[in-house]
Amino acid sequence: MQKRHLIRIDGIVQGVGFRPFVYRLAKSHKLTGWVFNSNKGVMVEVEGLPDNLTRFQNRLRQEMPPLAQVTEFSSTEIPLKNDDRFVILQSEYKGDTSVLVSPDMSLCEDCLKEMLLPGNRRFHYPFLNCTNCGPRYTIISGLPYDRANTSMHEFTMCEECEKEYRDPANRRFHAQPNACPKCGPTLQIVDREKRPVKTNDPVKHAKLLLRSGRILAIRGLGGFHLVADAKNTNAIETLRERKRRAEKPFALMAANADVVEKYCKVTHREREALQQQARPIVLLQARSSSKLPKVIAPKSKYYGFMLPYLPVQHLLLLDNFDVLVMTSANYSDEPIVISNEHAFDYLAPLADYFLIHNREILQRCDDSIVTVAAGHQRILRRSRGYVPAPIILENKVKAPILAVGAELKNTVALSNGNKVMLSQHIGDLDNPEAIAFFKDSIKHLQKLLEIKPHYVACDMHPEYLSTKWAHEQELMPKIAVQHHHAHLASVMAENNSARKTIGIILDGTGYGTDKTIWGGEILIGDFRDVSRYAWFEPLPLPGGEAAIREPWRMAISYLRQAYGSSMQKLDLPIMRSTKPNELNLLMQILDKEVNSPKTSSCGRLFDAVSSILDIRNKITYEAQAAIELEMSIKGNLQRNFAYPIDYNLKHGAINFQPLIREIVNDKTQNIANELIAAKFHVSLAEILIAITIRARKDTGIAQVGLSGGVFQNFTLFQYTVERLRSEGFRVLTHSRVPPNDGGISLGQITVANAMLQ
Ligand code: ZN
Ligand code: ZN
Ligand code: FE
Repeated sequence: MQKRHLIRIDGIVQGVGFRPFVYRLAKSHKLTGWVFNSNKGVMVEVEGLPDNLTRFQNRLRQEMPPLAQVTEFSSTEIPLKNDDRFVILQSEYKGDTSVLVSPDMSLCEDCLKEMLLPGNRRFHYPFLNCTNCGPRYTIISGLPYDRANTSMHEFTMCEECEKEYRDPANRRFHAQPNACPKCGPTLQIVDREKRPVKTNDPVKHAKLLLRSGRILAIRGLGGFHLVADAKNTNAIETLRERKRRAEKPFALMAANADVVEKYCKVTHREREALQQQARPIVLLQARSSSKLPKVIAPKSKYYGFMLPYLPVQHLLLLDNFDVLVMTSANYSDEPIVISNEHAFDYLAPLADYFLIHNREILQRCDDSIVTVAAGHQRILRRSRGYVPAPIILENKVKAPILAVGAELKNTVALSNGNKVMLSQHIGDLDNPEAIAFFKDSIKHLQKLLEIKPHYVACDMHPEYLSTKWAHEQELMPKIAVQHHHAHLASVMAENNSARKTIGIILDGTGYGTDKTIWGGEILIGDFRDVSRYAWFEPLPLPGGEAAIREPWRMAISYLRQAYGSSMQKLDLPIMRSTKPNELNLLMQILDKEVNSPKTSSCGRLFDAVSSILDIRNKITYEAQAAIELEMSIKGNLQRNFAYPIDYNLKHGAINFQPLIREIVNDKTQNIANELIAAKFHVSLAEILIAITIRARKDTGIAQVGLSGGVFQNFTLFQYTVERLRSEGFRVLTHSRVPPNDGGISLGQITVANAMLQ
């Protein structure tokens, strides 16, 4: 009365302890057969009594290893083979592969306990790991995921490690990066002149250096960090000077969530976000009583906190620092440094000492950034801990498509069947290192999916370096996708909805089909087609790119439109602080329409308001004016904050002159910025909601998608979502890919695919 089943499980099922789990489960149900890894996932054959088979399968589905992510599960009955036991067979790889590599994982509780247990052979050893934790994506060079294809191939396991690795009952069974002090990687401290510092405890020495105010470059999992004591104002000021980073907040690391709570308000969801396996940076509201130096995050209401994910980070924070500054080791937005040699040259002006290791980083991966808004976790930067987990589409993509993303916050993506694999955050493609990283990422994705793309999808912007690269690929047909169509498609794709949707796309810049710069768009469409229902009335951007760095220029542009020549008489701080010759020059540029491309950008409206309120006239990092405008708001937004205004929707262009005039009136009457900023947010949202309601009347579409970089604005996002829901809309929002241009590559794939049908 025996039966035999063939079970196939696909998804992230390799390198996460799946086979020992199956092995133990089969044994406990007195089943015979085997399990092995193949390029189609984990294959299991089990034979035994029907009752036991059923119980086995139920538990298989319910008790999967914590890191497994199953995308397919199938079970079929096959003829008996009468084997006498259950075994784990050698991995088998041939032909097409659908195997997915797991993201890197933070140190698990078991390993942490082991590391802190005196007398243990891995006591204080900073490279321990097991099948439930440790490096994955950042150490692989190719498939299959075996030690030989990782940067651990340089280390030969000692006898004891080898024994663990071979024992199906051990939690290090087939843990590819398995290591111990006898056989694995090691740490070392080196000074600026590349001289090794003599010490038998590099971590202890690093702590002493940090405590004395030194800045350390520490080689981690996906790259180097620059690390300083977060209580040492001098050290952080020095770091700012050296890094040429004037005001952008620094990320922080604390030993655990309780410590974070000393400095930030932490909700239950936010605590979960901090403690999740991926260990991202979580943006949290700072407590007013927080005693951390102002210089960490000047003018921000938020701190970016993460918890330790590497053994060395646990050791550094152990009985020592409350909080460490832990920022990417780079200048401004260049890719982070990953190799020791590059670090010695490039980071020498930044760091006093280097805490390095000898396990090569093969894939660069920045820390990910998330926030919790409107009840869900939102990813703002998708990198370490999330990549290369795929986004699963509802339907299969016709042919493999490579999408090369946008210019800023670039990511690339490759599709295979219903899986889209997004690269890690590559960054701004304005420097040679980033371009090299971009090209490497494209190659690497092809290696991981073992697939060559048939098409390449790119942005319509002819000057984007990603677009230029796409056009150099002579063998692949190109599909150009409008930037904001890609934003809309991206939010639809991650919500698995192909239905016609109203898209509220609030963005900085994107190239429009009319060759002007778009950025505040209400679109209606699906993956295939999109039409522009309404847009911010285009205004000149005086000086082009310079106006993005200098928000006061955009303020003048908006004021000139709202008041004409009488604007010069306005009693506003900006009119007093702008030098007469600068103002005249700008007015001439505007009058003669020289170097003043028109834009419907939403980001520029935020810039203008920020400058009119005298919050920020020139920026030192992207979106600073808009961020500080949002930060000036205290308390919650109220619907009755909305100005009584008519946005005057003529042929689709939304006129913001009445809104600007209300803001100017308030400002000249010395109303507090915190209130004007709140009223601006509410009014903008209410205008967009009113137009969306009108669009629903016109079309019958009741589904709205929110996307674009401006939706990183927590206040605006939360308010808009709640109000749209109260008006009866189904609201699609981003949670798995960023609302900013980091999500563009996913949108490009789905639009290109629809165009191919
Ligand atoms: Zn572990
Ligand atoms: Zn060993
Ligand atoms: Fe964008």
